[in-house]
Amino acid sequence: MKKPELLAPAGDFEKLKTAIHYGADAVYLGDSRFSLRGKAGNFTGQELRDAVSYARERGIKAYVTVNIFPHNRDLAGIEGHLEMLKEVRPDAVILSDPGLCSLFRRKAPEIGVHVSTQANITNSEAALFWQDLGAERIVLSRELSVEEIGGIREKTKVELEVFVHGSICISYSGRCYISSFLASRSANTGECTNSCRWNYALMEEKRKGEYLPVYEDDRGTYLLSSKDLCMVEHLEELAGAGVDSFKIEGRMKGINYVAGVVKVYREAVDSIGGPHGPGRKERWLRELAMFSSRGYTTGMFFGRQPDEDYHFGEESYRMSHELVGVVAGIDGGVAEIALRNRLERGDPVEFLSPGLEEKCFAVGPMLDPEGADILSARNGEVVFIGVPPGVRKNDLVRRPKNFGEKEDRAAGTAK
Ligand code: SF4
Repeated sequence: MKKPELLAPAGDFEKLKTAIHYGADAVYLGDSRFSLRGKAGNFTGQELRDAVSYARERGIKAYVTVNIFPHNRDLAGIEGHLEMLKEVRPDAVILSDPGLCSLFRRKAPEIGVHVSTQANITNSEAALFWQDLGAERIVLSRELSVEEIGGIREKTKVELEVFVHGSICISYSGRCYISSFLASRSANTGECTNSCRWNYALMEEKRKGEYLPVYEDDRGTYLLSSKDLCMVEHLEELAGAGVDSFKIEGRMKGINYVAGVVKVYREAVDSIGGPHGPGRKERWLRELAMFSSRGYTTGMFFGRQPDEDYHFGEESYRMSHELVGVVAGIDGGVAEIALRNRLERGDPVEFLSPGLEEKCFAVGPMLDPEGADILSARNGEVVFIGVPPGVRKNDLVRRPKNFGEKEDRAAGTAK
């Protein structure tokens, strides 16, 4: 069975490097002026050129999002952007507006066109429409089942991409105005405030201003908050239905998320069609639980599951581990760690390195850049510590999140 591409988010240069380090086949990134992630890190001008070159030099494809819904006033800026992209030559642009598709096909035919999920492609006629307009790939609507995807595959030649992991909207994909109404920040221009996940109360229409609490737990209720999508256990079904590219959501998420998700999905994609060792899928799920999520669901891929609760009824994200730092260099078993968090001698740490999954190590002697023996260091500082074989430059270092009580630290309880 053909192995689909693994496509990762690159909200800024560091996330792009992290995604490539952990095995992405392709990355997507955007200039915030024209893409639906106004708050993701900005790639503008030279940065975008550097990012695309960085990916290309490593044989990784780079797709640039131009998926806003433009008004006439936006077109001049987009034409300027198009001229710049002609020089940068990404492998494709990701867009959702038919006018922009036509513009790019006419003026930059050398750049591929991928049609964004915001175009809400839910049937084979819509897929053929975009195929006939010259699209190389379509990102299918998140409301489709695996069976429906197979039906579209049978009638089209265009490449099919689906989201396999990350946040999902509680509303119909890409057609949401909650944030626009409540916060004057439109999801359709990339400025969603995640208003669907705010805490809501009930008001009876004749008792204005009297808010009736609705309790799911002692903090309130989160009626509109969806669990996150996770299809890591079902990639073979999607590949069998004819999907060409698996997309991970999350240009706004941190490097801890990018590294952890890409690593797990790399392994899962590589194992498509091969034998599965016992307990492998369970380990993937445990690894995915180590960083921020709202709990997981398979979304609409298998239709409405009678027993499944799609709704995440908790206030805060789940996360069992926190980022400690990044391995900036390694020499003879000693790693230079660029810290993103406080670290103390004796702390338990885990290295996000193939073969070291779920192994915890206590931090031994710790040196500062001048070679002085130190007991602790803070976010932003650099330390040198001994690391086990298998740790690579650019790997992430993490720590169980609830560790940190003074007595735990003093006892150095890590194994
Ligand atoms: S408010 Fe919620 S449902 Fe609407 S676009 Fe934002 S995340 Fe999606």
